[in-house]
Amino acid sequence: MSATFVGMPAFPEAAREALADSQLRYNLAHATGTIRDKRAKVVAEVDDWEDLRVAGAAVKETALRDLERHLVRLEETLTANGATVHWARDAAEANAIVAAIAKDHAAEEVVKVKSMVTQEIGLNEALAEEGIAAWETDLAELIVQLGDDLPSHILVPAIHRNRAEIREIFMSKMAAAGRPAPDDLSDEPAVLAAAAREHLREKFLRAKVGVSGANFAVAESGTLVVVESEGNGRMCLTLPEVLVSVVGIEKVVSRWEELDPLLRLLPRSSTGERMNPYTSTWSGVTPGDGPQEVHVVLLDNGRTRALADEVGRQALRCIRCSACLNVCPVYERTGGHAYGSVYPGPIGAILNPLLKGVGHDDQVDSLPYASSLCGACFEVCPVRIDIPAVLVDQRAQVVDAHRNGVPKPEAAAMKGAAYVFGRSSRLAGLERLTGIGLGLARRVGIAAWTGARDLPDTPKESFRAWWRRTDGGRRKEHGDD
Ligand code: SF4
Repeated sequence: MSATFVGMPAFPEAAREALADSQLRYNLAHATGTIRDKRAKVVAEVDDWEDLRVAGAAVKETALRDLERHLVRLEETLTANGATVHWARDAAEANAIVAAIAKDHAAEEVVKVKSMVTQEIGLNEALAEEGIAAWETDLAELIVQLGDDLPSHILVPAIHRNRAEIREIFMSKMAAAGRPAPDDLSDEPAVLAAAAREHLREKFLRAKVGVSGANFAVAESGTLVVVESEGNGRMCLTLPEVLVSVVGIEKVVSRWEELDPLLRLLPRSSTGERMNPYTSTWSGVTPGDGPQEVHVVLLDNGRTRALADEVGRQALRCIRCSACLNVCPVYERTGGHAYGSVYPGPIGAILNPLLKGVGHDDQVDSLPYASSLCGACFEVCPVRIDIPAVLVDQRAQVVDAHRNGVPKPEAAAMKGAAYVFGRSSRLAGLERLTGIGLGLARRVGIAAWTGARDLPDTPKESFRAWWRRTDGGRRKEHGDD
């Protein structure tokens, strides 16, 4: 089983460690640069890209405004199609539902199509505790799982690994998980993909239960949609007898036609392709074709909390394309693990605090600050999520959440500044002490501040002293003609 993010340090600490890893920085710069260029080229081909963004944002925003009605409709249509719908308030409820279904079928293993939401709830780990092995079938997810690693990118979870590292993982770990890697395995991408395919095939053919997420859910027809590149998703959705789909409640859209802008925006923004290779849709049970038992778990896990946040609710429009990660200067240098979540990068910096709430956990509270606010994430977001605006609002919420506790050094410094600036005589007194104060600060070390910033030298003379000496510049300076 892959590891979990539980207990990760706050972003500044994790980022410092990541920045010291030059191999990681090289891998990331290379991979994000390549995807960025591909995306820019295919987006430039679309004349009405901006109109498409507006349309995509409108579809998701409209769905969120009337979420309850769409979800009730989705339950009705799915049920009419022969699926069983479950509602889960949080991760524990969702995991218990999936484990119970697997146990009902005496399944000791399940195959999974890559799914952010099942990672969010820690499904693999929860199933492992029940004695059920969950096998990831997406290539990058398989690399992460075999390496007992953590995903670091929404689209390319193993982006922090290069091909030599992947070969090493396959050689050392595949045998313990099933079919071993061939002895002559090279680090050519096609050879590595072929080894993964062989390894996974026996699992696909054996598993009774498949587990998926969904990119979208259409309320009017009770249809779930998964888009993917490798075909492993289609195998998970069609081969097992039982299918369990765990779906965040924000994935619902009202009508089938509304998928049009979303399915055009997603592949260009994520993989830099005009169209993704596989789009699978399923609507309950069809006798003699595909899984004969279909369960859909509709998951909240903080989404209604996010929905109630007037500024932050737009984050629920996210279609998980990962474009914001690939342009983020902070993500490119620190990688995804530093964010301590399955949702890294700019979207993770707002989504995690929105889902979990601020003021309880230093790691979560550090995330809205993990940004330079350069705005590149908003520029590329296909559904026009104003991430910088949400970041600023989230920062204010973090500050507010700590107002009644022990003030942080920054808050204490701001209070002191307010006191000093409140009266000119106090400011004059401080000016006389500024040199001493900064000298002292250098000696005692205000490492949290100066670790990432320069502490400027103080001028030899304050502005007030200069004004007094020169009468505001009317008297000539010493040495002037
Ligand atoms: S926030 Fe926008 S750019 Fe980032 S992953 Fe979501 S949809 Fe893509």
